[in-house]
Amino acid sequence: MWIGCSDSRVPAETITNANPGDLFVHRNIANLFSPSDDNTMSVLEYAVRVLKVDHVIVCGHYGCGGVRASLLPLSSDLPHVNRRIAPLCALSERHREELESFTELDARANRLAEMNVLEQVRLLRQTAIVRDRDEPPLVHGWIFGLHDGHINVLASGYDHARKTKDDARLTHASLEAV
Ligand SMILES: [Zn+2]
Repeated sequence: MWIGCSDSRVPAETITNANPGDLFVHRNIANLFSPSDDNTMSVLEYAVRVLKVDHVIVCGHYGCGGVRASLLPLSSDLPHVNRRIAPLCALSERHREELESFTELDARANRLAEMNVLEQVRLLRQTAIVRDRDEPPLVHGWIFGLHDGHINVLASGYDHARKTKDDARLTHASLEAV
């Protein structure tokens, strides 16, 4: 399953060289995963429980207009967009100090785009739909560079699964030691 941005320059199949039938795609402004939104949640539920996907990929991109908008004064003409990007505004507020270290707005927006991907990965891993499956799907966080065509992996589902298993083993071992 793919969660990507609506931006026409980031078509999921094209940038991954996938074929029809390969990806189950959900796209919205700034690739946000909103647990309170039935559109997003129904796509995830169907992908995980019916299609039984093994991988959920959140793919952001540098130069994202939605992410950039969250760093600028909100426009009163765009009430729906404003509501959608509210979590992004909150995220930028939480990381205000680091973001303000970038003087250029574009650089600040690109760093926030990375933080946004990691945040959506975190939220996805927390949802019951992902967590409660016997073999949970791996959640990955990627970011695409419009300028170079490269995909950077910001969060690997493989690393996370390994770490979770190691943590469980350690907890088990320390319990046995007690
Ligand atoms: Zn975008």
